[in-house]
Amino acid sequence: MADTPYTPQQIARAQKLRLQRCLSAALFYAACAGIMAIATYLGRYPMQAWLVVVAAYGLTNLVFIASIASGFNLRFADPSLTAAQIVAALLLCSLTATFSGELRGLITLAYLIPLQFGAFALSTPSLMRLCLIPAITLPMAVATSVWLGIPGPRLELELLHWCALMLVLPFSAFVSGRLFEYGHYKKLSDHDELSGLLNRRAALAYLDQLTRLSAGNRVPFCVALVDFDHFKQINDTWGHARGDAVICEFARIARDTLRKGDMIARWGGEEFLAILHGDLQQSHTSIERLRAACEQAHCGGLPHPTTISIGLAEHTDEHSIPWLIERADHALYAAKSAGRNRVEVAGTCTERRHATAG
Ligand code: GH3
Ligand code: MG
Ligand code: MG
Repeated sequence: MADTPYTPQQIARAQKLRLQRCLSAALFYAACAGIMAIATYLGRYPMQAWLVVVAAYGLTNLVFIASIASGFNLRFADPSLTAAQIVAALLLCSLTATFSGELRGLITLAYLIPLQFGAFALSTPSLMRLCLIPAITLPMAVATSVWLGIPGPRLELELLHWCALMLVLPFSAFVSGRLFEYGHYKKLSDHDELSGLLNRRAALAYLDQLTRLSAGNRVPFCVALVDFDHFKQINDTWGHARGDAVICEFARIARDTLRKGDMIARWGGEEFLAILHGDLQQSHTSIERLRAACEQAHCGGLPHPTTISIGLAEHTDEHSIPWLIERADHALYAAKSAGRNRVEVAGTCTERRHATAG
């Protein structure tokens, strides 16, 4: 996968998402503290222990929220701090289990939850390694509980809880890991290596889905075929590597310029397919913004503007995807023949298939 540098806007978006996830985890901890408060009220959990455990929950969440809010997390290979959050959650489960007495069997259920979050970021071996934490710390919790004289389940029952956990946890880790691997390989097979954009296959699958969704519902959308102007000259003058840099920078500009919900894929070579929601006018505004941004950007640090030509076509229920793309393609050739660096709309331009004005 190309090592795509992220823009400040992309980083800010990702940080916001991480913070939201952290806050939802904090809410979950608060709910657990609430359930334990009921157990405390019923005399099933010692009050002092409840205070200690709730303080530990609060402090842990504060550390993660502060790390993300301050940007400290960006120093790490995984800025979502997934493994660290899972380790902390598993240790907090063991701390909770230390004082849970007769309820320990119930608390062991909680060990299953943190591992589910690993499905988004960790491989099966990493998750399996994390299973070692409860394998070691649950017996430690039991030993501490005995040492503190807290009445709990009989020892053979504790052993049974541990055995059940050791059976269920690796299985859950395995399923979570497979989910992660599936997501990882799906990402690889759907994305173009150079630009990091979706590839042609993924774009066609998305178009197919969109066509089904919009059938009969009059949900308007358009497609735009985007082609770099005189790209061969860029390669010939500045070298292939510079051409690659232009493609990468274009991908970044497209991600930042198009609206949320619009998508752009690498169609092949120096051609891209944008799928734009809304009618022709709305889509035209969106793709024209991309054209202008690209012209201004001097992609790849070139001393001259890098321009693109665009053919835009609106989807209609009556016609197929190949026909829609064909119309966009005709409009693209019309844009080329009309002098390049422009958007042409299918149906309004003179669509000539092989126009190649120089
Ligand atoms: P036009 O304005 O008519 O589109 O001219 P053009 O030169 O852009 O079009 P042409 O189809 O003649 O050339 C496209 C060039 O894009 C040729 C090919 O080597 C180059 N190209 C395709 N994919 C890549 C890539 O991944 N990296 C680089 N550096 N060049 C690529
Ligand atoms: Mg071209
Ligand atoms: Mg081309």
